[in-house]
Amino acid sequence: MTTQHHPASSTTALHSLNRLKAGNARFLAGTSHAPTLQSEILSELAQAQQPYATILSCSDSRVPPELVFDAWLGELFIIRVAGNVLGPTIAGSLQYAHTHLHTPLFVVMGHEGCGAIQAAVATKFHEEPHPERIADLLKNILPALDDIDPTLPHDQFVLAAVEANVRHTVQILRASPAGKEHQTDGEVQVLGAVYSLHTGQVRFLED
Ligand SMILES: [Zn+2]
Repeated sequence: MTTQHHPASSTTALHSLNRLKAGNARFLAGTSHAPTLQSEILSELAQAQQPYATILSCSDSRVPPELVFDAWLGELFIIRVAGNVLGPTIAGSLQYAHTHLHTPLFVVMGHEGCGAIQAAVATKFHEEPHPERIADLLKNILPALDDIDPTLPHDQFVLAAVEANVRHTVQILRASPAGKEHQTDGEVQVLGAVYSLHTGQVRFLED
């Protein structure tokens, strides 16, 4: 791979979004850049990181953001947690990305067939018990499930829940003081996305 560093400070949210879309298109087309470790790149990155986007995604082994966006070292600031939920420490990492790294784009990315979402659905609608720590994690998802059409077939219901959970987190981030301030002036964008396990495609959610 050739060196393709575009400092985040010189880019915009739209530019970052286009880079994510282009990376996912390369991933889908089987034309991902083959990473070859170069000592110059490591030396440069050892000085500082300037990722062009921040991604909050699930820990699921099938959804690695660097691969699905064909991104290289130093390009994406990534927080991965089951169900891509927003707990206090996650919010701290996002705030760090905002205030110190100045990434212009924040993407909350859920995915088809998310086990954490299915567990939250089972808890809410079938009172399925979970061990304490998992139950704590699922509490972050439950409020997102209130408005989903209960007549949907199971698979569609889970996908709707995945999307609702993403939108719920996006809304919280946009409503935060920093989110409000920067959404207004267009400097920072917070978007939702859903990754398809079947096709490898990332679908960015419309408002
Ligand atoms: Zn998941």
